[in-house]
Order: sequence, then C-alpha cells, then structure tokens
Amino acid sequence: MDILERDLILQAERYEKLFRISEKLHSTLDKDTILGEIFVILQDIYPDYSYYLQLSQDTYSHNDLPILELEYDNENLSAINTYITGESQFEQSGKHAILYEPIKGIQGIYGVLQVIVPNAGEFPKSEAEFIKLLAESVGKALENAILYQQSRRVISNLRLINETSHRLNSNLRLEETLAYMSEQIKSSFKAQEVGFFLFSDEQEDIKVLPGSTPSFFTKQARIYIEPIKARILMEKESLFIGDFNLSKINNLKRFHSIMAIPMIQSENLNGFSIVMHRKPYFFSFESFKLLQSLIHHASLALSNSMLREELEKLVITDHLTKLHSRKYLDEQIQWSMDKDEEGTFILIDIDNFKEINDAHGHQVGDEVLIQVANIINSNIRVNDIGARWGGEELAVYLPRVTLDTGIGIANRLVEKVAKSTNPRITISCGVSYWNKDRHDSYNYLFKRADEALYNAKGTGKNKVVSQDDNMKVS
Ligand code: GH3
Ligand code: MG
Ligand code: MG
Repeated sequence: MDILERDLILQAERYEKLFRISEKLHSTLDKDTILGEIFVILQDIYPDYSYYLQLSQDTYSHNDLPILELEYDNENLSAINTYITGESQFEQSGKHAILYEPIKGIQGIYGVLQVIVPNAGEFPKSEAEFIKLLAESVGKALENAILYQQSRRVISNLRLINETSHRLNSNLRLEETLAYMSEQIKSSFKAQEVGFFLFSDEQEDIKVLPGSTPSFFTKQARIYIEPIKARILMEKESLFIGDFNLSKINNLKRFHSIMAIPMIQSENLNGFSIVMHRKPYFFSFESFKLLQSLIHHASLALSNSMLREELEKLVITDHLTKLHSRKYLDEQIQWSMDKDEEGTFILIDIDNFKEINDAHGHQVGDEVLIQVANIINSNIRVNDIGARWGGEELAVYLPRVTLDTGIGIANRLVEKVAKSTNPRITISCGVSYWNKDRHDSYNYLFKRADEALYNAKGTGKNKVVSQDDNMKVS
C-alpha cells in the first residue's frame, strides 16, 4: 500500500464516520445531547487539538463541556466576524493555528466552533474541510432541536390558554377556577405571587379576589398594588417591570420583577392581575406575552355578568369596613385549627348601636362602624384576621396566640373604641380559645365566644368576657 492509497483509505474512514455522526445528530432532538456529541467526535478524531464552542444564546448549563457565551469584545474579533458573516475564519496566534467555523442552520447562526491546532504554522487544509462539514451537520441538527423545543413551548402555551378558557367557561365554581388559574400561573411562570383584583363600579376601590396568594391580602401588599393600580387606571396597558422602583423600601426580600395585566372587556376596565418574583428581571418577554393572552381570555369570562355577581359574593373583603369577609374568616380559622397549635377568637358587638342609628341616622352609624373597623385594623398584626361577622358584629381571629394575650388585645380594643370614636360608642367582646391538647371544633369555638359576648352584654357592656369567665357565670 503506498502513501496515497493509505491516505485515501483514512479519508474514506473519516467520511464514513462523519456520515454516522450526522445520522446520530439528526436522530435526536435534544439540544444538550447534540452539543455533547460534537466534543465526543472532535476528541476522537483530533485528540491533540483543543476546541471551544461559543454560543450566542446559551441559557443552559453544560457541566464540564467547553461551551462559552459568545462575547462581543475586541479580543474575540475572529469569532464575532464568523458569527456575523457566517464564513470560516483562520487566525494565527503565536505558535497556534486557529479555525473559526460557524454553527448555522437555514434560519440563522447559533454560534461559532473554535478549533486550535497547537504548534502549527497554518491550519491543515483537509482537516479544515472536514471540520466545516461537521459544523454544518451540527448546525442543522441544532436548529432542528431548537425549532422542536420552540414548537413544544408554543404548543404547551396554547394548551394552557385553551384549558384555562375551558375551565372559565365551564360550570365549575368560580372560586375553584381562580384557584386553578393561580396555580397554572405559578407553575408555568415560576411566579412567587399571583393576585387578581376587581375594581368596584366607581374604580376607586379594588377587591382582592380569591385565588390570589395570601400575601396580597395583607396591608404590606398595598405598596405594590396601589402604584400598579394607578398606572393601570391611567395607561390601561400591561406592565412588564424588570426591577420595580420602590425607593422607600430597601429590603432585599422585596419583589423586583412584576407583570401586571389589565382585565378589559368591551372597553371597560374591570380589574387587573399582578404576578411577581423577588429576583430582578426574572420573567421572560415570552412569559409576559403568554400571561397577557391568558388574562385576556379570562377577562371575557370574569366580566360575564352572572359570574360577576358570583364574584361579588366571593370577594373576601367587606366593602364598607374593608375588613375581611365572614367567609374568609371561616376558612382561615378552619385552616389554622388544622395547622397551628393554638389560637384565640374575639367576637365583637357594638353596644346600643340601634340608638346611634336612631339618633344620628344610618349613615353616621356606618361611619362609626368604619371607625371601629379601623381601630381593629390598626391594633392587630399582619397575620391576624379582622373580619365583619355580619351587621354591626365584628370578629378578630388571632392564630397562634394564647388566651391571655387575646384577652389583652380585646381589652385594648374596648378601651380604644370607648376613647376615640365619634359619636362615642362602646363595644363588648367575647373571647374563646382552642389548642391542640383538647378536642375542639370551629362551631364550638364560635359558640363559646358567642356565650361570652352574651354574658358581657348582660353584665354591663363595654367590657371583655372570656370563655373561662363563662364557666364562673353559668
Ligand atoms: P346591644 O348590641 O348593645 O345589645 O344593642 P344594639 O342596639 O346594638 O342591638 P343589636 O345588636 O340587636 O342591634 C344591632 C343594630 O345595628 C340593628 C341595626 O339597625 C344596626 N346595624 C346592623 N348593621 C348595620 C350597618 O351596617 N350599618 C348601620 N348603620 N347599622 C347597622
Ligand atoms: Mg348585634
Ligand atoms: Mg349591638
């Protein structure tokens, strides 16, 4: 066998290898597998060379593969030229010969393969040709994989929208639908907080809808809700915020990434949705577009008048007092009795309220009710729940709070109400308590508070009676 013959055989073997590699590359649609395969091949054929792959959009981690992000700087001119022109480039750097080969498909260029031959005056021609063919094959396979992944994403986005619209238009309870939507948004966008807000008819107030994550029901959430509400009212456009400006708050734990989408139906602004994450620039623009389309579909169903009525009922804040609704309080107490060790319940009734109404009119009565509600709100903590029990009866639930502390808080409320209401009124409180040691139920907890309140009314009003005092009385 002469040298020429041997060369030919070697070449033939190599191209056969390339053919098999191409087949292998095109048999997978997984981007990472394709990227890994390039280096296996290069290592096999050129164990003495070194190589890097510079990718233009590399958002994946590749463990120990020599994959870099394509850097746009002066030290990387040959790679950038290759990327921009789509043509191979040769470079001599000291003793090394370097080849830059574009990784391209039909639709675009995805990166640059850099091959370094150590101690060579020039890059071997036949190898350059082989590497070019390899890079072409990789480029096409990679493009297929990228397009495939994109189409899978588009399909799953469409599926999400489709399923959500179906649910919204089905006869499921709206509360469940909102909870479903909230879960979908959390899992699809990796969101940490999701809120749904409905404008009242005058667009002054907003109501937090069920399905919103718990922190949206706290006072702290107002620092996000209020400015977003103002902008949505003014611009009637979606907001895509990478780093929300909150100059007053320098808390690392605050939320930086915010998407907010108005719910608009027949040119009426009905409400909006807020989605948040603590990390700045967390959400992609693609997520933003998807969320817009999701909320757009939901707006249609949510503004349906029948559902709107149901929504009103579900609303968990009371319109007049801005306290939580009875329904919400019920749910939270039941949840707490499942999860916590103990808790205290205070039932509050305004004394001789009928007289206030009779003497000053119903409107003044309403104002006094609001005053009492405000006193309650400013004397309890974030995790406590102040609620309108019904009519002029209010209630406070204190999760993980002992009876003594609860009685203390009730006494504070009684004192403050007597001191700072105008026209001056007083309240009576019945306090009950549960803990894990004793078998108990939500109904029984309420009954004990109600009995204590009855005793307070019967023994002079303007005072606190607890479940333990009950036993002494009866
Ligand atoms: P007491 O509780 O001390 O026994 O006397 P009371 O006069 O408060 O008696 P009761 O609790 O039976 O009456 C409640 C009154 O509160 C009757 C109703 O007119 C009034 N009321 C209930 N809800 C509202 C409301 O939302 N606004 C106003 N202004 N009045 C209300
Ligand atoms: Mg009453
Ligand atoms: Mg009363």
